[in-house]
Amino acid sequence: QVAKTKVALEVPKVKWNDIGGHDDVKQKLKEIVEWPQKQTAAIARMGVDPPHGVLLHGPPGCSKTLMARAVASETGLNFIAVKGPELFSKWVGESEKAVKSLFARARAAAPSVVFFDEIDGLAVKRESSHGQGVSVGDRVMSQLLTEMDGLVPMKGISVIAATNRLDIIDSALLRPGRFDRILYVGPPDEDARRQIFGIHLSKMPCSPDVCISSLAAMTSSYTGADISAVCREAAMIALEEDVNAREVRVCHLDTAIARVKPSSLRQSSI
Ligand code: ATP
Repeated sequence: QVAKTKVALEVPKVKWNDIGGHDDVKQKLKEIVEWPQKQTAAIARMGVDPPHGVLLHGPPGCSKTLMARAVASETGLNFIAVKGPELFSKWVGESEKAVKSLFARARAAAPSVVFFDEIDGLAVKRESSHGQGVSVGDRVMSQLLTEMDGLVPMKGISVIAATNRLDIIDSALLRPGRFDRILYVGPPDEDARRQIFGIHLSKMPCSPDVCISSLAAMTSSYTGADISAVCREAAMIALEEDVNAREVRVCHLDTAIARVKPSSLRQSSI
């Protein structure tokens, strides 16, 4: 029954260069995940207890998932991803078993990264449950805390979690020895947007006058996911115009930017 929880094992192929901007986050993730796996002797020599888990937080579409995949891929680690809410199930007891089996799987696949996406769906502050006794959420959380407490970072398992809602995360999860590093992955600045356009447009044939710097300047509140949507839309517009189109032109990108609004605006208009 536990097998119903999606815990597909993969070796992701995302490279650091596939992510525009956020050099500081990339560097920190390398230190937190790569060093304990690769520099075990140096870390032991210095007598430090390496971080246990890292929590990435920030608005949707700003590369939290890409970051987790990239650090696993660049460090040569297996990757097990699960969405927080998927761990809940309607059968009593099964959700805790799912957490247990997830970590058992990670140990068997070590060196590995366990990635909890949308951890807020799992780890909301327990005070916010409505006084109806021990909820499934409480039990899943307790199991997660037990597993985190039992982790020895240099034994080959790194835990990364992501959330858009740091404010509702149970503080028990943020204590030392659990998710004890918190990194903000925010919206891209202009230089990062230029890099993100470069990454996505490099996969498409573009006319030589397409200028990624102007595109970056025109898209001030766009996230990485919005920019990826703009590039896709531009290619579709080129094809709508002429099914034999061979390149994306400046006019296609301008129209795409006019059509694809930044997700922050889309959300506030809902
Ligand atoms: P959510 O909170 O909604 O899960 P997220 O922060 O995990 O979002 P990702 O899933 O990593 O965001 O990004 C979604 C998509 O947006 C990526 O697959 C990629 O195509 C694009 N993208 C986002 N940020 C970047 C970036 N910095 N560089 C290149 N592409 C990006």
